[in-house]
Amino acid sequence: MKILRNIEELNSYKKNNNKKTVGLIPTMGALHDGHLSLLQASKNKSDISIVSIFVNPTQFAPGEDFDSYPRQIELDLEKLRLSNADAVYLPQQNEIYPRPITLSTKISLPRVSKILCGKSRPHFFSGVLSVVLRLFNLVKPDFAFFGEKDFQQVHIIRTMVIDLHLNIDIISCPIYREKNGLAMSSRNKYLSNTEKDVAGILFKAMSEAVNLYSYGEKNCHSLIQTTKNILSKNPKIKIDYIDIRDSISLKKLPTINNNSRIFIAVFYGRTRLIDNLSFSTSSQNL
Ligand code: AMP
Repeated sequence: MKILRNIEELNSYKKNNNKKTVGLIPTMGALHDGHLSLLQASKNKSDISIVSIFVNPTQFAPGEDFDSYPRQIELDLEKLRLSNADAVYLPQQNEIYPRPITLSTKISLPRVSKILCGKSRPHFFSGVLSVVLRLFNLVKPDFAFFGEKDFQQVHIIRTMVIDLHLNIDIISCPIYREKNGLAMSSRNKYLSNTEKDVAGILFKAMSEAVNLYSYGEKNCHSLIQTTKNILSKNPKIKIDYIDIRDSISLKKLPTINNNSRIFIAVFYGRTRLIDNLSFSTSSQNL
């Protein structure tokens, strides 16, 4: 596995592989099996797979967990070697943002960046788009792989690709979960083992909504209320939002349609957890 520590090394690696299709898997590290499933999807589709690891400062607001975000580069490299990644790109901050961040070009997308996670993290999607576009321009991949765990993020990246005429195929991959249904996330490292067990309640609550739908309940308000009631049983869990929206347009729905998906964000102590689940049983994954 090639370790690319700067743009020169990235460019010369690309030059040596210029006839091959490239899959990019952008990550912030602290890798888990969810990340590795994206790598596997890339290996199935691309000639070479490049994983990038960069904790992107522009997607964290002041007071969020940028400083404490888990960083474990040696362990990550070992996991990537064992999973046969072709290369890993480890850019320094001054390579991604060569000028002071506050003066740098920002990418933003109106409206859809302001709903769901964008409501409580108004800076977030602009930070994500600003780093993803830079990574796309540096790596010039044919395919880029993102997880449906961050469903709104994939939607927004796809929209940027269309709006800016980027010639990159965005591929979304299913959510990888722990045995109790908890979606894998680098931030789960903030939770104790007991808390991780308890956090399985997110998946249980969403599954109950999907289950009720299978028995005929189509009213989104009632399904959201059921989910809320289950989560509210645990006083340590503070709901940020629960919403049911159309998977394609991300518009709110009064009643379930063929593309409906439930979206959840909660704070468990200081840890923010997000998850989502489709109402169409053919898209489930556990
Ligand atoms: P992150 O390092 O958290 O920025 O995530 C990097 C990529 O991995 C993003 O595209 C995420 O959506 C994806 N990802 C994170 N957790 C999971 C998961 N549990 N299953 C599948 N993909 C995931």
